[in-house]
Order: sequence, then C-alpha cells, then structure tokens
Amino acid sequence: MRVFKFGGSSLCDAEAIGRVIDILQEKSIEEKPLCVVVSAMGGVTDEIIRTAKAASHREIAYRETLKALRKRHTKVLNAIAHGDRETTEIIQEQCVEFFGICDGVYALGELSGKVLDRLMSFGELCSAHMVAAACRHAGLDAKFVDSRDYIVTDERYGAARVDFEKTAAALHKLDADGATIHVLPGFVARSANGRITTLGRNGSDYSAAIIGAGLGASAVEIWTDVNGVMTANPRYVSDAESIERMSYVEAMELSHFGAHVLHAPTLQPVMEKTIPLLVRNTFSPDFKGTIVGNESVSERIITGISTVDNVSFIRVQGSGMVGVFGVAGRLFTSLAKAEVNLIMISQGSSEHSICFAVQDADNQKAVQAIETEFELEMQAHMMDTPVVEREMCVLAVVGENMRRRPGIAANVFGSLGESGVNVVAIAQGSSELNISMVILQQDASKALNAIHSAFFKK
Ligand code: ADP
Ligand code: ASP
Ligand code: MG
Repeated sequence: MRVFKFGGSSLCDAEAIGRVIDILQEKSIEEKPLCVVVSAMGGVTDEIIRTAKAASHREIAYRETLKALRKRHTKVLNAIAHGDRETTEIIQEQCVEFFGICDGVYALGELSGKVLDRLMSFGELCSAHMVAAACRHAGLDAKFVDSRDYIVTDERYGAARVDFEKTAAALHKLDADGATIHVLPGFVARSANGRITTLGRNGSDYSAAIIGAGLGASAVEIWTDVNGVMTANPRYVSDAESIERMSYVEAMELSHFGAHVLHAPTLQPVMEKTIPLLVRNTFSPDFKGTIVGNESVSERIITGISTVDNVSFIRVQGSGMVGVFGVAGRLFTSLAKAEVNLIMISQGSSEHSICFAVQDADNQKAVQAIETEFELEMQAHMMDTPVVEREMCVLAVVGENMRRRPGIAANVFGSLGESGVNVVAIAQGSSELNISMVILQQDASKALNAIHSAFFKK
C-alpha cells in the first residue's frame, strides 16, 4: 500500500484537481488499494484564519469572506463532480456549521485556539470530500475516510502532539480493502477527549507520514508544485536543481531550516520505519522528483541550502556569566517553559555571551522569560538586558558529504564576503551535517544565490 499526499498547491482549482484525478487513475491501475491524504484547497487555510480573526475583531466583513469561501468550494465541486448530490449536501452542511461558529466568534469578540482549530479543519474536510467525489465521478472506487478517527493527539491547539501508540492502534483497524482509494483529510486530528485538533501549519505532510507509518506503507509520496526537494527554494534561486536522492537526516535539516516543501516533523515517522518518502510534482507527473531514504547518494559536497525567514537574534551577555555553572541551563529552561522555539544557538568560547535565534513572533516572550529568570543578576549588573536584533534570517547549508572535508566553511563564508553579505553569528553541529548562520533578512536572496553559485555551478 502506498500513501499519496496532495498539497494545497495541487488542489488550487478544478483544473489542478483534474490532474490529481488523472494521477490517481494511473496509480490505481498499478496498485490497489491507495490512501490519499489531501490538504485544503490552496490558500483556504489562510483565508479561514483571516475570516476568523476578522470576526473576533468584530469586523462584519467576515461574512463576505465566508460567502466567498462557500462559493469557491461549490463552484469547484460543480466542475469536478457535477451532480454529486451527497457531496453537495455535505459541503453545505459544513458551511452552515462553519458560519455558525464564525457568528459565535463575532458575537463574543473572542477566538480561542480550540475554536480556530475547529474552523481550520473545514478546509481539509471539504477538500477530502470533494476529491473523493471527483474520483467517483471519474469512475474510480473511492471513499472519504475521516483521519480524525485515527490520528490521536493531545490538546495543544494549533500544533497538537501525536499519541503514536493510540494512533497506531486506531490505524490498525482501518479497513484499507473497503475501497480502491481512501481519501483522508490531512492536518486534522482528534484528542482522546474528542476535541478537534490540527497538526501545525503545513501539517498535511505529517498526516501522510503518520498514516504511512501506521499502515506500514511501502512508500509515502508527497505531490506538490515543484520538481521535488531542490538545492534551494526555487522562488529565491532561479537555477535551483532537483535533488535526486537525499537522506532522511538531510531532509529533516533542510525542512527545519525553512525548506517548507516538507513539513519538518514528517521525516520522523517514515525514518523510524525506513519507508521511502518521494517528493513529486503534480504539474510534471513524469518527472521522478526526489527520493528520501536512509542514504544520500549525492556526489555533491552540499545537498541543499535554505533559510528560515523573519527571525529575531537575541544576545544575552554579561560578566556574571563567565565560568558560572548552570547559566545556559537556566536560560534554555526558562525559554522552554515559555514555549519559545529555538531555531539556532551560538556561544563564543569566552562564555561572555550566548546568542540564539527565534521567530520574530516569539521575541517578546523570550525577553520576558529571560528578564524574569535573571532578574537578580540584572539588578546586580552581572548580566545585561537581552539585546534583540530583528529582521534577520537563519541560513543553513546542509549535506552529509560535508563531514570531515576541509575548506567548506571557507568557501561558504568566502562567497558571502565577496557578495558583501555580513554574517552576524555562526553555528555548526558536531555532526558536520549543517552549517547555519544568521544574516540580515534583506540579504537572504543574495546570500542564497552566492552560495548556490559557489557550490552548484562547477
Ligand atoms: P504544498 O501546497 O504542496 O504543501 P508548499 O507550498 O507547502 O506546497 O511547498 C512547496 C513550496 O516549497 C514550493 O513551491 C517552494 O516555493 C517551497 N520551497 C522552499 N524550499 C524549497 C526547496 N528546497 N525545494 C523545493 N521547494 C522549496
Ligand atoms: N491546510 C494546512 C495549511 O495550510 C495544512 C497543509 O496544507 O499542509 O497549513
Ligand atoms: Mg506543504
């Protein structure tokens, strides 16, 4: 059994969904049954969030965006599965429920994470019903399967954590032989108490990997709008190339550092079971794309480069940090308690300062946590107030072949120097798989192109 996942970019309109159905038609001849995990139609989740926020701010215009969302879905459904009354009714029911919740948000002027998860789930639920209907319309034996009945999480709304034991037990009961094609909504799940949760933005990739691992799939295929994982984001680097093969760890590093063609947690479940992960292009289905497996077979020194955009770089420094036990422990524990996610850490050997990068949205939370933890040290002038530099980005150079090979850092930083890009901080893990650095956001494109030319144009 193979698991296919189609992202929002592959489901943006009726024409794109038509391509998806063509791909499934071909695949279902080769192998049966298939599991198909789908995202919401392109842009729908963003639109749902905007609508929900507008309602919570008591902006009556939310009603117009709601109507536009309903119109978009019904129009596409008519085009891909005209006359499917059952699905039309399901979409109408979903819309009525969605409208009702949004009206409640408007009346209260309040939007909790729990309610937002419920609202966001409509995107994937509708698209899964629609894709199943389109398959049937094309003569395929397809049915909607509700992934919320199988993926069990905690109640951390917005980015719920999966209970793998309960999920594996539930997936064990999925009757994969009940139809040729099972269409499941990605991104959505349910807590043990029955609350609807979501797996984090871009999380449908993760759903596919969880389902693939739980069912012991022979492969998980992520179908998107580019030719697989590329040496850099093609939106930044026009001559980026498709990576034929890469290791799970390389893919994990690249996705953690901003290559959002794969949602970073996706790699873990498939890596644990050594299930090959393929990344393919819906708009160029004959192209092989990328195979992610145990080994990287690339001849190249580096496999790829990526950036995490819009980060803040925070420096904690002071004479009281030198030679004192436990400062780093207290610092990172206080950040963890405040639920601040660290993207990268760097400390000079003088121990005088520790620097780290966080998402811009987290910088206030981080500063507050540090000021509370080190209040006494700051009063005694042993530690300074944290310094925050905004509008930065973290650039990562990733590749298994960098290990024990001298001269790579010189080449990376030499090419940045020649392009006039200033490097604010650097970190390299001892695995030598990744060199990451903090630079100004405005230099991101220049830096990516400079390093890309230095390593890939020879
Ligand atoms: P989907 O809707 O299929 O989930 P995403 O938008 O989440 O698609 O991911 C695909 C996008 O990821 C591409 O269009 C591209 O802009 C971006 N991307 C970023 N880094 C890379 C990379 N290294 N290789 C390929 N795509 C990348
Ligand atoms: N629809 C969700 C999002 O936009 C999940 C996904 O597309 O993977 O984040
Ligand atoms: Mg995606």
